[in-house]
Amino acid sequence: MSSIELKPTIEADEWRTAQSQFDEAAELIKLEPWLRDVLREVQREFTCHFPVKLDNGHTRIFTGYRVQHNINRGPAKGGIRYHPDVSLNEVKALAMWMTWKCAVVNIPFGGAKGGIIVNPRELSLNELEHMTRRFATEISILIGSDRDIPAPDVNTDGQTMAWIMDTLSMHLGYSAPATVTGKPLEVGGSAGRVEATGRGVTICAVAALEHLGRAPHQTKVVVQGFGNVGSISAKLLEEAGCTIVAVSEDYGGIYNPLGLSIKRVLEYRAREKTLKGFPGAKEVGNQDLLTLDCDLLVPAAIGNQLTSRNARDVKAKLIVEGANGPTTPEADAIFRERGIFLVPDILANAGGVTVSYFEWVQDLQSFFWSEHEVNQKLKAILSRAFNEVLKTREERKLDMRMAAYVQAVSRVAGATRERGLYP
Ligand code: NAD
Repeated sequence: MSSIELKPTIEADEWRTAQSQFDEAAELIKLEPWLRDVLREVQREFTCHFPVKLDNGHTRIFTGYRVQHNINRGPAKGGIRYHPDVSLNEVKALAMWMTWKCAVVNIPFGGAKGGIIVNPRELSLNELEHMTRRFATEISILIGSDRDIPAPDVNTDGQTMAWIMDTLSMHLGYSAPATVTGKPLEVGGSAGRVEATGRGVTICAVAALEHLGRAPHQTKVVVQGFGNVGSISAKLLEEAGCTIVAVSEDYGGIYNPLGLSIKRVLEYRAREKTLKGFPGAKEVGNQDLLTLDCDLLVPAAIGNQLTSRNARDVKAKLIVEGANGPTTPEADAIFRERGIFLVPDILANAGGVTVSYFEWVQDLQSFFWSEHEVNQKLKAILSRAFNEVLKTREERKLDMRMAAYVQAVSRVAGATRERGLYP
């Protein structure tokens, strides 16, 4: 069956994508069959259905998940997402990607992820806090500073992390800041964490441009998603000299082929709570945005945006994946065939987990670093990882995704092999 004939629902199954990427890497490194069986499954998957009392006095039942894919290299690490489309398969895939992400940048964590099926915009702040605290209690049997450490993801932020940290601390009877990362500075957060994922995207994009022999000031950029990752990536890429021609949120985006001032877009969005109506820009739909004329495309919203339906129409010659899983295997094959240079999610957006690791280390030591120190250490780790992946790509004649997978899967397999099978 050709990729075009695949039903979009199958193509859009993140767990199928994650497993097929792993299978390809396992084959490339001739991984032993028993390790393939272990690593292509998640270790633990937890589902809970829990009640929350709403402001109107009614009770609503929510469904949430926490999945740990592999904890052989250290405690599990991964974000918590609030979105109506959250599913167990999506959370499993995101947990597996976290394992590879931590391994590709060589930080001592395993992979986890969590989520609640909810549109947070439908809840009041009070309801959101109650839902978060009850979910934190449900997953408290799994999480902890030496076991599994959550962080922000889609529709969750520092406030969400502060509520989770406070809930766990109340259970313990003392403050336990190292149980979550991405917290506000006041409760043990790290300088530079809010910007870390976008900063990592920018470090990878600039390194890729350099490899391709293109200067940032010759580079037109489209960014899908204008949340934490998208807006910071746009801001820092502009500071690096690129021209940002389009940005978007879930309802659509804005486009100006001559460039948008991201500072002004941020001010406008803060004031108007929308990108719509930004002066001097045309409106553009999220699908059309992906195929606009540009040199660099940064998908920084949600998964499955680049598929067999639009991959041939993408104009960018460089794609840097800010989001997790934005590209299906079918689209990946088309990009490979078209010679598009793609920096994969497990490398491109690893800046977030890297600074989360710094935050965890600072919390455990109760000794905090300056933002300059954080940014310097982040740059050193990401630049080294980028160069290692590039070297593997060239030595083994692979694309960047498979080169990153070869690095990551080899490291996790090595740890799993050394530890052996219990009992
Ligand atoms: P966020 O909630 O801050 O922002 C998400 C953005 O995507 C918003 O602008 C939203 O309007 C937009 N969006 C949602 N649905 C969309 C759709 N259907 N089409 C277009 N835009 C849509 O979330 P975030 O933290 O910026 O995460 C974005 C992506 O980056 C996710 O895939 C996440 O897993 C990944 N990521 C985040 C971090 C982090 O540190 N926050 C780290 C690594 C990876």
